[in-house]
Amino acid sequence: MSDTEARNDELLALNGIFDENVFKSDLDKGGEILIHCKLPEDFHLFLRNEESKFACQAGARLEEKEGKVLIPISFLPPLVLRFDYPEDYPSCSAPHYSISCRWLSQQQINVIRQSLDIIWKDNKGEVILFLWADYLENESLNDLALTDEMTIEYEKVEPLFSFNPQSGGNGVIVPNVKGSHRDQIFYASSPESTITEIVNFDLAHKAKIFKTTVFSCGICYSDVQGIDCVSFMPCQHVYCKECVTEHFSVNIKEGRVLGLCCPETDCESMAIPGQVQDLVDESLFQRYDSLLLQTSLDSMDDIFYCPRPGCGEAVIKDKSGEKIELMKRMKREEAERMEQNAEEFLKRELEEIAGEEYVLKKSKRCPSCGFHIQKSGGCNKMTCCRCRTYFCWVCTQSLNNNPYDHFEDPKSKCFHHLYSDLHDDDEWLD
Ligand SMILES: [Zn+2]
Ligand SMILES: [Zn+2]
Ligand SMILES: [Zn+2]
Ligand SMILES: [Zn+2]
Ligand SMILES: [Zn+2]
Repeated sequence: MSDTEARNDELLALNGIFDENVFKSDLDKGGEILIHCKLPEDFHLFLRNEESKFACQAGARLEEKEGKVLIPISFLPPLVLRFDYPEDYPSCSAPHYSISCRWLSQQQINVIRQSLDIIWKDNKGEVILFLWADYLENESLNDLALTDEMTIEYEKVEPLFSFNPQSGGNGVIVPNVKGSHRDQIFYASSPESTITEIVNFDLAHKAKIFKTTVFSCGICYSDVQGIDCVSFMPCQHVYCKECVTEHFSVNIKEGRVLGLCCPETDCESMAIPGQVQDLVDESLFQRYDSLLLQTSLDSMDDIFYCPRPGCGEAVIKDKSGEKIELMKRMKREEAERMEQNAEEFLKRELEEIAGEEYVLKKSKRCPSCGFHIQKSGGCNKMTCCRCRTYFCWVCTQSLNNNPYDHFEDPKSKCFHHLYSDLHDDDEWLD
């Protein structure tokens, strides 16, 4: 068989093996294969301070292990193998190739290249691309000792005038330019774009797999496709949407919004407002939202109910805690005269007045669970009393790892604002 025939056969075979999204060929000259490296089940990415912020913003759920922050990863963005055929492939020469990958350093890519070169030496004279792709998918991470965890090594960008045409690590992005590798342009890569891409890719693939997986609902015992199921975090318990909707609705109607948890017995994973909104109808969601506000209010220690018999008004202490300001005088008798349940009435008044004016003005929502949190003195590093998320009172960004860095890093917009309250505004109390 001539080299030309062997090359055409190889391209045909690759076309048959790989999906069109995975393999693209440039006629008979070469092509590109996207390699999805197989990861072990319990694979983790360790994050540095700055990286954990970007991971959190992209929606990753951070975990902590021995003081280090990490995220579980099931799918990494593909590694790209680009190849060009020389005239004497496969009889004499190997394909020219480049490997680009956002999450590997050039040094790591060089280790992989050495293995590919060895595979070629062992199989010289035969078409090689399937063997290479198979190695990259199944063995390359083992060779890099990335068996259950990894950290991303960032590199300086090589100056343009001396770039290495084989470069393709995370220090550079190699755009898909047709033709010669010399035409490729090199850009700096940042932790922000790298981490965001990794997290987005992983979450999107997990969501795709979740949708098509069949789960057995622990409430109604039917087998239901993931697309019709709800998964709670962090417990990962899964129930069918129908049962969860019923579970949410009953709890909201009975006013137990803080008990809006995963239905599993003794499981404390909380429903997030978005899940509730997706499932229950608009009026129930409104009720849920205002009850959440009410319970937020109850948890604020400078709001209490007037102890005088027959009064029960919502009152707030002023900052010194000595004087009592009446928020709204609404006597029980008046409420009764209006033939309304006094408690209901007060509650609604409280929701309307305390809710909209006081709480919205004086509280902020936890960036992760939506609970209204009020700040009473102290520093601007807040802890949500519902979900324990740390966040910044000034900018309401969540601060998961080393929350104080947010106030100590000169690059942060809240640098030096650990104690100063930029937007404090007490005029409402006057
Ligand atoms: Zn069910
Ligand atoms: Zn659960
Ligand atoms: Zn929260
Ligand atoms: Zn503090
Ligand atoms: Zn801030």
